[in-house]
Amino acid sequence: MLLCTVLTFAMCADPSVEGAITLGDLTVPVVWSHARVNSCVELGAQSTQDGAGLTRLETGWQSSQTRESSEGYAGHLIVRVLDARIELTSYSWDRMTAAGGAALQRIYRATLWHEIGHVRTLLESIDAINAEPDFSAPTPDAYTALAKAHGDAAAARVNADQVAYDRAAEHGLRQDTLPPPLAGPDTVVNCPSGGR
Ligand SMILES: [Zn+2]
Repeated sequence: MLLCTVLTFAMCADPSVEGAITLGDLTVPVVWSHARVNSCVELGAQSTQDGAGLTRLETGWQSSQTRESSEGYAGHLIVRVLDARIELTSYSWDRMTAAGGAALQRIYRATLWHEIGHVRTLLESIDAINAEPDFSAPTPDAYTALAKAHGDAAAARVNADQVAYDRAAEHGLRQDTLPPPLAGPDTVVNCPSGGR
């Protein structure tokens, strides 16, 4: 498996490569599926989903009790990535021209960059959640309930941050408008004249 970083990500934007993106300690496999279309123009821009890409992210939390004192039970939440996977679609059509192939390569790169942004956004959410101050409760039961409430809030925040990222990037169509390091090529498809 080819391991790509955010600097060498374009090497993993290739359907013939079995690759994964490494971000810190996290390795995110890039999984391809294939779709045949009649021509390039069928790969129309969409603003309701990520087009040729999808990132599946699964997180979990646990509470780490740090002390038991006269004030009761205190601890904090630890959120981790349980599973992360980027799914991309490769396309082909009959009588593909070199220009058509180049358009596809651009869309694969732009889409992969957008999906990497989902993972980066997740890692930022997790860092922020894990840096939150301890919470405390007077009894073990109250502590457990409080930990669950914090866990639910963390899951909601992770989801909200993902939605906000897609809204800001318009699912990749306006990726260039984002601040660094998320800024990148737009996922707008530029088909060659003739559509092949
Ligand atoms: Zn997206």
